Amino acid sequence: MLKLIGGSLLILAAVIVVRTIMHSPPPSADVMLVNLNIDAKKAAQHLSESITFKTVSNQSQADKNDAEFTGFIQWVKDTYPSVNSKLELIMFNQTMLYKWQGSDQSLKPILVTGHYDVVPVIPGSEDKWEHPPYEGKIVDGVIWGRGALDDKSGVIGILEATTFLIAEGFSPTRTIYLSFGHDEEIGGPEGAGAVTAYLQENEIQLAWSLDEGSFLFDGMFPGVENLIAAINVAEKGSVTLDIVATAAGGHSSMPPKNNAIGVLAKAINKLEENPVPGGLQGLSATMFDSISRYFDFPMRMLFANRWLFDGVIDSQLSRVTFANAMLRTTTATTMLSGSIKTNVLPIEAIATVNFRVHPRDTPESVKAYVEGIVADEQITVRTRGGRSASKVSSWEADGFNQIARSLREVYGDVAVTPGLMIAGSDSRHYGKVADNAYRFNPFELTQENLAGFHGTNEKMKVEDFIMGIKAYIQIMRRGSDS
Ligand SMILES: [Zn+2]
Repeated sequence: MLKLIGGSLLILAAVIVVRTIMHSPPPSADVMLVNLNIDAKKAAQHLSESITFKTVSNQSQADKNDAEFTGFIQWVKDTYPSVNSKLELIMFNQTMLYKWQGSDQSLKPILVTGHYDVVPVIPGSEDKWEHPPYEGKIVDGVIWGRGALDDKSGVIGILEATTFLIAEGFSPTRTIYLSFGHDEEIGGPEGAGAVTAYLQENEIQLAWSLDEGSFLFDGMFPGVENLIAAINVAEKGSVTLDIVATAAGGHSSMPPKNNAIGVLAKAINKLEENPVPGGLQGLSATMFDSISRYFDFPMRMLFANRWLFDGVIDSQLSRVTFANAMLRTTTATTMLSGSIKTNVLPIEAIATVNFRVHPRDTPESVKAYVEGIVADEQITVRTRGGRSASKVSSWEADGFNQIARSLREVYGDVAVTPGLMIAGSDSRHYGKVADNAYRFNPFELTQENLAGFHGTNEKMKVEDFIMGIKAYIQIMRRGSDS
């Protein structure tokens, strides 16, 4: 009997090891690296100049400095004269839409887009910046300032790439649209929203769009040497619920055992203990399947043998906030309210909870789940508002493959995988007029740079910026050629 068990264990171990060995990266892509000659100094100078326009999107429109936006638009026209003469420009408020007419009008156009508005610098945090946020200083090969990552590098990268292609005498087969949004950071209603309405009115359906999203991750996954390009094919939705606890109220000198705040606290606790169910399926499964092939042996072993280790993987990933957000609808209690006076018991205590909705759920299904978890006669759940996740674009379509190929032609052997965007972007508009909406910036990103997003010390290496321009050149060339 012991012999039999020993034999079975041996077979099991062999199966696990063989599966792990087979769970390896795909063979190096058979692509030639392109040789593109970019004037790095000039391109970096342009990104630097663009940062000096304080095109800040504040929550309140009253704080908007219009002159900075019109100044930026004029600067684009002056700095990129060939783009401006070769392409047709249509303005939507302060969002610029360029059309580069293709030779074959039977083909659906593509859209390459970015936004030039930026988030404000938190008042009082200016002195935490190593170089001022709106001067675009270039120091030791690094461009500093608000927008260096999000997303003036995208906008200027696209403009540099277009200028390069025009100078080379390239003319697209498929029509290329370029758009540069002015209000992405406040939802994009007057920019991307207006462009989308225009395309709808003119019955223009795009083959695909490429907007900001994730990056080429460099060293973000421990033990992984390759760059990982997670091209986001969907973005999460968002729903905000008020969890309301009611009680009798009265004077705080004679409190009942359970007051509204205590009831509410229990409800919040239940929500934290019972995250919305998720796991490795569909998009998340594909993503982790491709990335895990680059992991070290023990981690690869887990992912190669999901039939055995799914439970372990799920609990491990759920502990990493970033990975957890990929697997499920997340739960975040953000606001609380109770009584209005120190000695008055609340008759109502409210917790506001924001859920970021995974494509597998809907705002309605999240509410139903929450109602089940917090069920109590003193509790009601009210919806403040929300939106569903976007549809999931195909990672087998031509557009995805063209973008992936372009990245390999510039960066060599990168791991390309579909990804899920956990924040929002203008693509929530463009996705309505595109067969597939992709969300990806073709720049390298390290853990260190990540902190600059909407934070302090936003910056980009000149070297990385130039590589991104090359990627945009290839993406536009490949994307419009077939
Ligand atoms: Zn952005």
